Amino acid sequence: MAKTVLVAGGGGFIGGALVDSLTRDGAKVRSVDCKPIDEWYRVDQDAENLVLDLRLLESCRAAVDGVDEVYNLACDMGGMGFIENNRALCMLSVLINTHLLESSRHAQVGRYFYASSACVYAADKQLVPDLAPLKEADAYPAMPEDGYGWEKLFSERMCRHFSEDFNLVTRTARYHNVYGPLGTWTGGREKAPSAICRKVAEAVISGDHVIDVWGDGQQTRSFTYIDDCVLGTKTIMASDVEVPINLGSSEMVTINELIDIVASIAGIEVRRTYDLDAPKGVRGRNSDNTLILERLGWEPSTMLRDGLTATYAWVYDQVAASQRGATASTV
Ligand code: NAD
Repeated sequence: MAKTVLVAGGGGFIGGALVDSLTRDGAKVRSVDCKPIDEWYRVDQDAENLVLDLRLLESCRAAVDGVDEVYNLACDMGGMGFIENNRALCMLSVLINTHLLESSRHAQVGRYFYASSACVYAADKQLVPDLAPLKEADAYPAMPEDGYGWEKLFSERMCRHFSEDFNLVTRTARYHNVYGPLGTWTGGREKAPSAICRKVAEAVISGDHVIDVWGDGQQTRSFTYIDDCVLGTKTIMASDVEVPINLGSSEMVTINELIDIVASIAGIEVRRTYDLDAPKGVRGRNSDNTLILERLGWEPSTMLRDGLTATYAWVYDQVAASQRGATASTV
């Protein structure tokens, strides 16, 4: 019999891609999000699509009713510009995970997945651009990103203790900067790859090739393509890995290098103005993939240039369409 699966946050970027993938796999999917359906990134006609506020216990009870597995990707989040200015809102997502865990336990759900983040890693391990990649143990002693990172670390531990004390099988992945077509590209919640794609697309269209950059451009990150994220999420869910595990690319670049790649895909040279007061997050971050390679024999493998080529093409279409007053949202 086909598995019945809940994707919480199915109206979002990663949740939407996961719903699509799970329905293709033959699962019966219930996709839940608090946004009105016409604001969902994708609406899969093969899924049961429900609008519910999962901060509420009764919504969580309804959402998990009759499901075999739960993927919790519902969260109030965005790029650095959002999380540095909305710490309380980010922390309120603790209600979603807490009520989903509690409902899943009572409904005797078989497996529960939690989407955590590289923002759980301790600040003092991320002070230089050429840092050692972050391994799972580097989350402790704890000093995560204020607001968002603390909520993620606390929720990881809730999952762990629900496993230990109540025998709920939980799996937790720490996502590292996920990007791709259909991602948030404007509006204040976008992250670096799609924000850079948008700025370069605007430069191409306007002919003014100056773009603004948050920070000095020397901060480092790795970026994970959406297809790798979805495959990794399903693989971790099905695995026997009981501890939080990195799900991220280990191809580290500076933000300046990210801009160079997008500009070369677009076929232009850009000049940059650096806004040193803008939110910029930690100085360096990369994913140590020793554990995922050891336990799953796999790691995200999409090269940044390939993922950005697809992402830039999609973002360019969005920018061009919005300047014409239309909407373009096909992949
Ligand atoms: P997203 O904002 O596109 O998706 C999150 C979805 O959750 C949104 O559609 C939002 O409406 C929904 N949501 C928020 N509050 C809700 C509520 N009360 N009830 C129901 N739904 C609610 O973000 P995303 O990029 O798809 O991220 C998915 C998950 O992955 C999140 O938990 C996020 O913290 C985590 N994550 C993402 C990244 C990344 O780079 N995108 C990195 C690390 C971790």
